[in-house]
Amino acid sequence: MKYISTRGDQTERHFCEILLEGLAPDGGLYLPTHYPKVDAATLTRWRGLSYAQLAFEILSLYIDDIPAADLKALVEKTYTRATYGTEAIVPVRRLDDGLFIEALSNGPTLAFKDMAMQLLGNLFEYELARRGEELNILGATSGDTGSAAEYAMRGKRGVRVFMLSPQGRMSPFQQAQMFSLQDPNIHNITIDGVFDDCQDIVKAVSNDLAFKRQHRIGTVNSINWARLLAQVVYYFAGYFQVTSGAPEAGAAGLSPKGSAPPWGGPAAAPSNTEQVSFAVPSGNFGNVCAGHVARMMGLPIAQLVVATNENDVLDEFFRTGRYRVRSSAETHETSSPSMDISKASNFERFVFDLLGRDGARVADLFGAALARDGGFQLSAEETARIAGFGFVSGKSTHADRLATIRSTWQDHQDMIDTHTADGLKVAREHRQPGVPMIVLETALPAKFAASIEEALGRAPPRPAALEGIEALPKRFTTLPVDAARVKAYIEQHCAA
Ligand SMILES: *Cc1c(COP(=O)(O)O)cnc(C)c1O
Repeated sequence: MKYISTRGDQTERHFCEILLEGLAPDGGLYLPTHYPKVDAATLTRWRGLSYAQLAFEILSLYIDDIPAADLKALVEKTYTRATYGTEAIVPVRRLDDGLFIEALSNGPTLAFKDMAMQLLGNLFEYELARRGEELNILGATSGDTGSAAEYAMRGKRGVRVFMLSPQGRMSPFQQAQMFSLQDPNIHNITIDGVFDDCQDIVKAVSNDLAFKRQHRIGTVNSINWARLLAQVVYYFAGYFQVTSGAPEAGAAGLSPKGSAPPWGGPAAAPSNTEQVSFAVPSGNFGNVCAGHVARMMGLPIAQLVVATNENDVLDEFFRTGRYRVRSSAETHETSSPSMDISKASNFERFVFDLLGRDGARVADLFGAALARDGGFQLSAEETARIAGFGFVSGKSTHADRLATIRSTWQDHQDMIDTHTADGLKVAREHRQPGVPMIVLETALPAKFAASIEEALGRAPPRPAALEGIEALPKRFTTLPVDAARVKAYIEQHCAA
């Protein structure tokens, strides 16, 4: 499998060439040249596999520059009961008739980002050792991404993490999670400012190309293809848990042969097959974009329900074909903070497929149009194509999320977090008769205790391993809002 850019650069690259990179040189995102199709017989064979085996099968279709035995070992080391708490890794539980929750949040930081980031840590360590190189990961976080990255990279050879966070702005639990790590390759730097200051420093350091090259600065942001690919696996795993395995048409029943463009084309709603739908609490569009890839491969997905909070960039797009990036003043701080985004960084990948992989058009929309108009409006004909890709959307308010947490607790004795509540609220608006709906649980309630207490008047339970972490010794350095000071710190701590 080779990879190309969404903005027209057709240079074909292998998986490991793009693994450690961010954007493609033309500013686009990487996508495979085509989506491998999974037929009925393959789906039937995969049904009985363990999560690690399934991950190996799917990843193998996209990675041809890591020997199979090595890839297998990496995947088996990643998806273990010890890390995720269960044999199923992503257990699905039934809430109601035809309504399910798939738990993606049982990894070390209690949020779904662990699903991909843990694999990324092992892939980075493997590839850096093979090249004899080192990497210094620089990032800014207000919570989830930073801790997932640190727990994935801790103790990994060849990798250091420098993670900036706004001094005193994270919850005590989040601070404890990150700052209690004692691994010498993890550097927590609290910045005497707000999250935007942290991001500006990361940008300033990354824009210093000489410094970046000399100190091998990299990132682990959500546009990384390997992260997205790792997430494709749990759509298959969820499907197998709620369907019975009756005759599956798979890809063979999707688009008529001969009419599909070479890269795959939109998958028509499969007939004569067990279908499921997924509802996905969305921010940067990474999670649900993996669902799009699974559907393009032939997984019988009826609907991909994009759920947003008050930051409804994506809901607006899927209803109207209009993409309008929000300013930071228009970006709300909500009770589902991991979805508080002003633009959706992975979204360009879907638009590339929607527009028949027209790289020039995508370059214009996400380059010139975004810079000039802060967004774009697709034509009516283009907007009408969205339905063919299975996407629908909706949004929730703070009151909706609290009400959903409350009713789920009262009716099912099931405690869900604010992000999952967003997904469940919107999922209910899109139920179709006879089609199971799987809501992706993206975090455990323990991470967002204040909202749970507001909804239920009681504290969420905390996994035993995290009991009392606030009392552990903390390891961090505080620096002013000054990129030069951060550079000096990195220089001191990465004697290369
Ligand atoms: C990151 C995150 C999301 C949003 O996922 P995207 O891939 O950015 O759409 C939703 N919920 C939680 C808990 C998250 O950490």
